[in-house]
Amino acid sequence: MSVKQRLAEIVQPAVDLVYPPRCPLCGDAIAEQKGLCASCWSELVIPGEPSCATCQRPLGDSMLGGEVQCAPCLANPPRHDGIAAGTLYNDASRKLILAFKHGRRIALADMLAKLIEARLPKLDGDWLIVPVPLHRTRLWSRGFNQAGLLAQNLSKSTGHGLVVDGLIRTKRTESLGGLGQKARERALAGSITINPACKERLKDAQVLLVDDVLTSGATSDMCVRKLKRAKVSRAVVACFARVLDEALEHGRHPESETPEVRKPRAPRDE
Ligand SMILES: [Zn+2]
Ligand SMILES: [Zn+2]
Repeated sequence: MSVKQRLAEIVQPAVDLVYPPRCPLCGDAIAEQKGLCASCWSELVIPGEPSCATCQRPLGDSMLGGEVQCAPCLANPPRHDGIAAGTLYNDASRKLILAFKHGRRIALADMLAKLIEARLPKLDGDWLIVPVPLHRTRLWSRGFNQAGLLAQNLSKSTGHGLVVDGLIRTKRTESLGGLGQKARERALAGSITINPACKERLKDAQVLLVDDVLTSGATSDMCVRKLKRAKVSRAVVACFARVLDEALEHGRHPESETPEVRKPRAPRDE
């Protein structure tokens, strides 16, 4: 059985969407309440092997064999201790994220978290699960922190502790979409900090940092920087959809996405 088939079995039976069963992506009726319709499911891209030993970025087949690092990791060794991504960011995962943010959040949180969980490294020993924080004004306007909801689900399913406010946003940052690396760092400077009340708990802990979408990595990098300064022993980043730099260069930037009305599906060319 392929990895994807196995994942389909993990994800499908546990999803409880509202009756009547409809695919949350395309709205097509589905026979049973099983997450996504077959065609949308087939559009999700699960990151495979071979991959970078440091950040798990999928690499070309020519890179098979041995411990290999991707060019960005070689050029700029990251602070984190690995990235576990449920899917690679594409049209299908983007629509799932939008549906999650602007609609069927409870049912989708479960499915998205299961897809992340399937990609996690073995979590030996005790881990703490910490979401990437949202500023409280965003929290008020949206009503929930999507990363927090995923972290909660991951904590439930893995049995590891949740520190929902381990990191806090002290400053609201505008969208990072379209900014270069330096500008992103400037925009983020001083915006994320360790919650003083959680310092003791985080010290020497292994931390799984959770976000819904990993875009440029600037935000998660800032979080990891703060966590390491607070002396966590490891920080692994977990996300539902990982944007590879290639997608950023093609002008579609997830952090600048706005809610959209469901559009008719574009014809697929196959
Ligand atoms: Zn569908
Ligand atoms: Zn890498």
